[in-house]
This record gives sequence, structure tokens and C-alpha cells, in this order.
Amino acid sequence: MSWKFGYDSPQAIKMVLKAQDMAMCKRFGQNFLISTPIREKIVDALQVEEGMRVWEIGPGLGSITTLLLQKGGRVTAFEIDHGFCRVLRESAFVDESGFELVEGDALKTMGLRTDIPERICGNLPYNVGSVILGNIMEGVWRPERMVFTLQKEVVQRITATPGSDDWSTISILCQMDYDVKSLFDIKPGSFYPEPNVKSSVLLLEKRSEGRVPPTLKGDFIVMMHDLFAQRRKTIKNNLLRGKCGAALLRDGVDAVLEESGIDPSRRAEELSWDELVRIAAAYAGRASSVPSGNR
Ligand code: SAM
Repeated sequence: MSWKFGYDSPQAIKMVLKAQDMAMCKRFGQNFLISTPIREKIVDALQVEEGMRVWEIGPGLGSITTLLLQKGGRVTAFEIDHGFCRVLRESAFVDESGFELVEGDALKTMGLRTDIPERICGNLPYNVGSVILGNIMEGVWRPERMVFTLQKEVVQRITATPGSDDWSTISILCQMDYDVKSLFDIKPGSFYPEPNVKSSVLLLEKRSEGRVPPTLKGDFIVMMHDLFAQRRKTIKNNLLRGKCGAALLRDGVDAVLEESGIDPSRRAEELSWDELVRIAAAYAGRASSVPSGNR
């Protein structure tokens, strides 16, 4: 690797942006991690081994990417900012054979890939971090380990337990196939520019067995989005107003709740994994006879 860059120096970052006639873009949540020890802790948590296929979302100028490549990872980086892409392609990793750049919005470009990574990581932009993570969880990729830097409140929601105020669709999506853990917090001063929110690093480790049977997954996700659509409403009302209600109508929703033995007046955040799976199984059983256009 030929590019030597002072990734911990705001001055060096400003200079490269100025030389390229570029500026930081708030819209893309550009807060660079300017602490080598923190970046090293993140990459260590990912446990990259020689030759592993690693996806990085939002490489910026490549500060984490460099460490991933040093570990022997074959990195595919998804970056939306065309200016950063130019720096990555023409300066930072110009002669790096283990580096591939995918230019554009990761929310669109990831879905076009046919390969499956063994690791995924990213210091995710605050404004769309949970959307990107939700997208990964609803997709086909299931790497053994993933590590993301996100807003602290988002990590609290992802690691929440059933029955708590933070238990929500993103907690369920992430915990379907993964054990999740908040590894450590990062102070705003470790970023340039400093964000006005706190950050945490999230580790996701694949479970040997998912919490939702694979054949139920599609219906489970539809049902879960319906159940949590409006937190103050009962599960029956939420199901009736959502896709489940549109497919099964009132009688069908009543039957699903009766079959799964769940009181229709309960709220979604009170439901355990076992109860959620029971509702999904009853929904899937009935929805299978509904024409696909109505589901
Ligand atoms: N990895 C660098 C670091 O840790 O210092 C930069 C992280 S910065 C918080 C987020 C990065 O994600 C920026 O480079 C930004 O341009 C990029 N980004 C934002 N939205 C994106 C999207 N939808 N798809 C791909 N990259 C995105």
C-alpha cells in the first residue's frame, strides 16, 4: 500500500478535501473517526482473516479500509460520495488488488451484488444507519460477524430485550439471526467533525440457529412490521390496518390471534419471541391460501 495518510489529523483531512475541491457533506453523515486505537478495536472485533471477503459501508477516505486490507481482507467498499470515491480509486488504493469500490448509494448497490461477504462493517452515517442495517437484515447476507458504529440510541434499541421500551422492529430484525452486543461507546471528540450525538460500536455474531424458522421468515417480517406500526395500538388493530389485515380481512386476523392463543388487546412490545413466532406461523398458514397479489 503506497498511500500514507494522517487519518487522525483533521488538518490532513481538510487539506486533501481542499486539494480535491471537496467539502464534508452533512447530508451523508460524514464524521470521520480520527482515533487509530478505536479503529483498531473495531477491526479486531470483526476478526478478519487472510483472504476473507469483507464489505465496508461508507469508507470515507479509507481509514478503516486500510486496517482491513492490512489484515489480509479482500475489501468491497460501498461509498456514495463521488469525491471520496475519486480519492479512494486514484490515490488511496490505486495499486491495491484486494480493494474493490462500489460507487453509489449502498441501499441500492448492495442489493445488486451476487456475492456473499464473510464480514460486514461500517462507521455508518447517523441519518441512515438504522435503515442500512434494516436493509442488511431483510436481505440474504448472513456473515458470521458484523461490526457497526452507530448512534448510541440506535444501538440501545438494537440490543433491547422483549418488554422494554426500546424493543422495536430494528431489535427484532437484528436479533432474528444474531446475538447482539454493544461493545463500547465513542466520545464525539474522536470524530472529525464532532457529531452532536453519542456513538456506540455494535457487534453482531451469527447464532447457530435463528430465532425464526427459515420457512416463516418472509411472513414473519410482514407481520412484525404490521404489529409495530403504531405502538399505542393493540396488536389486533395494527394487524387489521396493515398488510396482514389486507390479506386476511377481519375474520382472518381474529382467527390468527385465536389460533396463536394471544390476547388481541395486547401491545406488540410485550410479546416474547415465542409469541411472535406463533402469530407468524398462524398468519403464514392462512395467508398461503390467499392469491399472491393480495398479500
Ligand atoms: N469510514 C470513515 C470513517 O470511519 O472515518 C467514514 C465514516 S462516515 C461516518 C460515513 C460514510 O458513509 C461517509 O463516507 C459517507 O459519504 C458514506 N455514506 C453515507 N451515506 C451512504 C450511502 N447511502 N451509501 C454509501 N455510503 C454512504
